[in-house]
Amino acid sequence: MIINIRSLKGHKGDVLTFSQDVPWKLAEEAPQVAAESSPLTVEGRVTNTGRGMYVEGSLSIKVRLNCTRCLEDYEQVLEAKFAEEYLPQAKAAELNQDNDEEWLDGIPTYHGDELDLQQLLWDTVLLSVPMKTICDADCKGLCHSCGQSLNKVHCNCTNHVTDPRLAALADLLKE
Ligand SMILES: [Zn+2]
Ligand SMILES: [Zn+2]
Repeated sequence: MIINIRSLKGHKGDVLTFSQDVPWKLAEEAPQVAAESSPLTVEGRVTNTGRGMYVEGSLSIKVRLNCTRCLEDYEQVLEAKFAEEYLPQAKAAELNQDNDEEWLDGIPTYHGDELDLQQLLWDTVLLSVPMKTICDADCKGLCHSCGQSLNKVHCNCTNHVTDPRLAALADLLKE
């Protein structure tokens, strides 16, 4: 996603707002995501700080996530905020020459009239994907014996008792 910042150049303090829906292939990058159900919605503003361009905003995307317990997909909206200052490429290079500081190496830059937000959006949206994906706190998962989803069926297998005390009792009864 690219923002044209021509109108901000040379006008310190000026602000540009933006709002866009961008097609996004999140499922290809995040294994927990089964599919996207909506484009990525991005809203924000760019401010000319005199030194560079300060971008802040928020994004959201509706996705289907894989439940790690029952392996079914479920829908969730991922939301996150972002903020970053971009420096003109020439100024960043200048700063790099004057300083040996490491933080300058990864500094986001822009060139000409185009502010490329792609990397920032990727970093932000990937962080918004939960590490642990469970469709519901009460999800019962799969039966260890027959593999059926215990959210849907009551199978007759005896050994999906997960409480260790009950499991011990079940073992006793078997003898
Ligand atoms: Zn589940
Ligand atoms: Zn079963």
